[in-house]
Amino acid sequence: MAPLAESVAAFYERYGLSSQQEGNARKAKSWSVNKSSSLYKINAWGSPYFSVNAEGNITVRPFGRHTKQNEEIDIFQTLEKAMEDKVLGDDFPFSPIILRFPDILKDRLETLQSAFDSAIQASHYEGRFQGVFPVKCNQDRSVVENIVKFGTPFHFGLEAGSKAELLLAMSSLCSGSPHALLVCNGYKDADYVALALLARKLRLNSFIVLEQEEELDLVINLSRSLCIEPLIGLRAKLHAKHNGHFGETSGENGKFGLTCMQIVNIVSKLRRCKMLHCLQLLHFHIGSQIPSLSVLYDGVSEAAHIYCELSNMGANMHCIDIGGGLGVDYDGSHFQESDMSVGYTVEEYAREVVLAVKDACYMKGVKQPTLCSESGRAIVSHHSVLVFDVVSAEEKIGTSEDEGVPLQVDGTLPDPIRRLCDDLAALIWVGNYESAMECANSVKLSSVRHFKKGELSLMHLASVNTLYDLIAGITEKRGHKMSPETSYDAVYHINLSIFRSMPDTWAIGQLFPIVPLQRLDEEPTIRAILSDLTCDSDGKISTFVGHEGMGSARSTCLRVHPLVRRKRYYLGMFLGGAYQEALGGIHNLFGAPPVVQISWKNRREMKTRKLQVSKVRDGQTISDVLKCMQFEPSAMLQTLHLALQRSLKDGLVEEEEDAMRALDCSFSSTTYLSTARSVASALLHTAVIG
Ligand SMILES: *Cc1c(COP(=O)(O)O)cnc(C)c1O
Repeated sequence: MAPLAESVAAFYERYGLSSQQEGNARKAKSWSVNKSSSLYKINAWGSPYFSVNAEGNITVRPFGRHTKQNEEIDIFQTLEKAMEDKVLGDDFPFSPIILRFPDILKDRLETLQSAFDSAIQASHYEGRFQGVFPVKCNQDRSVVENIVKFGTPFHFGLEAGSKAELLLAMSSLCSGSPHALLVCNGYKDADYVALALLARKLRLNSFIVLEQEEELDLVINLSRSLCIEPLIGLRAKLHAKHNGHFGETSGENGKFGLTCMQIVNIVSKLRRCKMLHCLQLLHFHIGSQIPSLSVLYDGVSEAAHIYCELSNMGANMHCIDIGGGLGVDYDGSHFQESDMSVGYTVEEYAREVVLAVKDACYMKGVKQPTLCSESGRAIVSHHSVLVFDVVSAEEKIGTSEDEGVPLQVDGTLPDPIRRLCDDLAALIWVGNYESAMECANSVKLSSVRHFKKGELSLMHLASVNTLYDLIAGITEKRGHKMSPETSYDAVYHINLSIFRSMPDTWAIGQLFPIVPLQRLDEEPTIRAILSDLTCDSDGKISTFVGHEGMGSARSTCLRVHPLVRRKRYYLGMFLGGAYQEALGGIHNLFGAPPVVQISWKNRREMKTRKLQVSKVRDGQTISDVLKCMQFEPSAMLQTLHLALQRSLKDGLVEEEEDAMRALDCSFSSTTYLSTARSVASALLHTAVIG
């Protein structure tokens, strides 16, 4: 029987259809890296941090707009070299990896600070800007410590929303600027309040932000009994609201904050207790991904008026904390009606905030306060890139070089099916693709019927399925609109758990740009959807950043290249530095990927400059994830050992040493697919293959 590729060619020839392979070859010649760049909209969502180089690889521009050409980092080459040099240990590159670029983090912080500095200067605003990072966006130690380090020159602080986060922020800020703010948000019990008060004794500027009226009594009583004067802030519930997905926290029915009435009550109580001077900060949070400048102005303006009223009521106000919400343009559309995009720049955002606060203060004759923001997403999203490889492809059309199921369109098919196939060919010949698809479907259904009656062999059934996919491919190529389930050519299996590493795609339909990291000088001819390692039908990605020329900001497939045997094919997920790591779970027990930090060392001394690639966090092993579910690996090993000894006694195995070594090995290995073969090697009694 002829191999698939040949049969396919024969089929094309027989029905006068041009071969797909030929078409691809023709197209490949006119392809360029610029075409890839616009196909994946890299400039739209990635500028100034990501682009494509002449070799067709994705490069990182770690210093943003200030990056020189020789400072660009080619991710694919860096990974290949790190693998060669074995700098990253066993789990590389056999599991997904989080790459962090601390220089991007620094650039994001500086961009935010300078946007506010410029806006303040331009409008002669009298206060200054002093931001905090809400640690819930990414609590990873290297991230928090870098933010504190990079932000020290402009007194950047941290925001916490729970006791654990508060402790983390307290210890991290001990090495930060003494003027940095420590904003304590979230629901509080006595311990939370006591901890925040204790922070004052460590010379930290910890603001206890009241979310609920009842928290005030805790603060008053504890501060009196501990003899520590608190810094108090209020979280206002605004009437202003944004309508996007993340707007649920805002508006009168929002989950958080104090109503006007509660604010008035708190002021009276503080005055009665002679503590009104402790009230110094007003906080609010309109919601993440604030869609437009008008929504922003509306919210900030309302809050600024509350701020001014508090000041006029006698509180010692000097800071307005505008919360988070500075958006990230995930799909690059710059479109304010979408949750995945925002219609403004950081500079425009800063100008609008300064303007709104200034207007209110001017009107009410109040001194212009220090501006604080809790931008999380906008600070950490860009500096992390999740890299994973494609382990296999399941193609819907016969485009692979593999010898698959032979296609039989000859006399060996049962007559009814054979007749249907001829009809099908006739329909394609006259260009009636809609009917052709229907006919192909009949062929398939009737074949299944024959198969169930025992009149068709498994081989025949497989042939018919191949034929169906082929017709689907041809009709689609000829411009017939397909149903969504057939509008892709292949399912690419990725070495990743979506639940672990990009949970928001599953939970709230979040869109992250995903792009091949290499071969962008070649036309990506295959339209794929991605399917992850978990045994869960939700473990797939079928919405992507829209491709050029497709009109919409979203696309139902990702353009990728055909896999080449024994060559790794890496994909990168971008802009995922916020929220994904903490939200990710261990569905199917896939663990947290290792974290690798990449940065230039001694960048200014050109001669000694070197790209430093170092692992800052190991990936979770099988043993680690088992412990999360209260299994004790050493006890498990013991149980398995006893079972092994019984098998030994029964003569089921000859010796126990190799088996024990293999079991031992498996506990400490990666949860992802790997070519390390350490367990298999142990069993085979050979040296571990690297
Ligand atoms: C989540 C949150 C933030 C961070 O919001 P981003 O949109 O990520 O900037 C800031 N402040 C509060 C109170 C939050 O709950």
